[in-house]
Amino acid sequence: MKKVIILGGGGFIGGHLSKRLKEEGNSVTICDIKNHEFFNHTDICDNFIKGDLRDPKIVEQVITEDIDEVYQLAADMGGAGYIFTGDNDANVMHNSALINLNVVHECAKKKVGKVFYSSSACMYPEHNQLDPKNPNCEESSAYPANPDSEYGWEKLFSERLFLSFNRNYNLDVRIARFHNIFGPMGTWTGGKEKAPAAMCRKASETKNTLEVWGDGNQTRSFLFIDECITAIFKLMESDFIGPVNIGSEEMVTINQLGQMAIDISEKDVKISNIYGQEFIEKYGFECPLGVRGRNSDNKLYKDKIGWEVSQPLINGMKKTYQWIDEQVKNNTYIYESPDKGNTIYRREFGKSSNTREKMK
Ligand code: NAD
Repeated sequence: MKKVIILGGGGFIGGHLSKRLKEEGNSVTICDIKNHEFFNHTDICDNFIKGDLRDPKIVEQVITEDIDEVYQLAADMGGAGYIFTGDNDANVMHNSALINLNVVHECAKKKVGKVFYSSSACMYPEHNQLDPKNPNCEESSAYPANPDSEYGWEKLFSERLFLSFNRNYNLDVRIARFHNIFGPMGTWTGGKEKAPAAMCRKASETKNTLEVWGDGNQTRSFLFIDECITAIFKLMESDFIGPVNIGSEEMVTINQLGQMAIDISEKDVKISNIYGQEFIEKYGFECPLGVRGRNSDNKLYKDKIGWEVSQPLINGMKKTYQWIDEQVKNNTYIYESPDKGNTIYRREFGKSSNTREKMK
């Protein structure tokens, strides 16, 4: 039995990771600034600490000498509507950098067994991702650096931070660059949801068209959460420090992803692409798109760790659609209010996903 702590375990990947680690018989503590919206804490951990990891005193309390493994997933992040509009750049950089600075320092001070750091494919240079059919996300292509978002720059900085603590203080680190992880029990509405969840929600809600941001020809790949957790475990068990991609090599256009969600819903609806002036008039900001093309390159992972993704995208999309469809039909979701109380809000059907109306 290992003693592990999941920083950011109140989030999507952290929640699933905690659950698997607990199921495998480990002693699991989570620290997060918020509760998990979808999992019961008793199902995913032995101890849930509500704390702000930007505060070094909290980090000092939660990272103890007897911890075998620290999983650092806490970050200020969200989908394209959060990361690529520019409105959240200062918070994204400041909050996530503070968390990582505190965590890495405390891990070295307490000489914890091993630390996992979750970086992102968003750190890859924009100039290698202009051609939607041939993006280059090989690990060695990271430099000269040129990420297209401040989120990506912070990830790059923090990768280097963890690597330098490995060099100078022998901190045993593992670094993964996640490529679009998706699945049930994740944010599916409210503006921070990612493309697979957004497509499933739109397909579930719509009666006529499914709106896709941009021309829909931008490409991405998406990895189902269960496979992501397996890949994290394999990396942790290996001697390879990374950084290494954890993603799928099944690249699709965003229109293909939307069509997949429509097909699963078995509805007779068409995709409607929105961008340019029409988008600005509807939403009041420029259409946030990110790079034109991105795909995981898994050669290094296969060479060093010898494991491959086993399931096609459609399998994960079916599971995700089923779960989101249930949420839409129940028409409620948990939103943590600023007063830190868990308050149930009712979504108004057919209105913007940001509409929150407090239930009586
Ligand atoms: P998430 O937003 O669901 O989880 C992040 C968690 O960090 C949240 O629960 C949040 O409350 C917590 N957090 C934020 N600020 C905090 C603070 N000050 N103190 C304590 N906790 C705080 O995101 P996720 O999808 O689960 O991603 C986990 C990690 O993987 C993140 O670092 C993210 O950048 C990285 N990543 C995710 C993806 C993806 O596709 N989901 C892709 C690339 C990288």
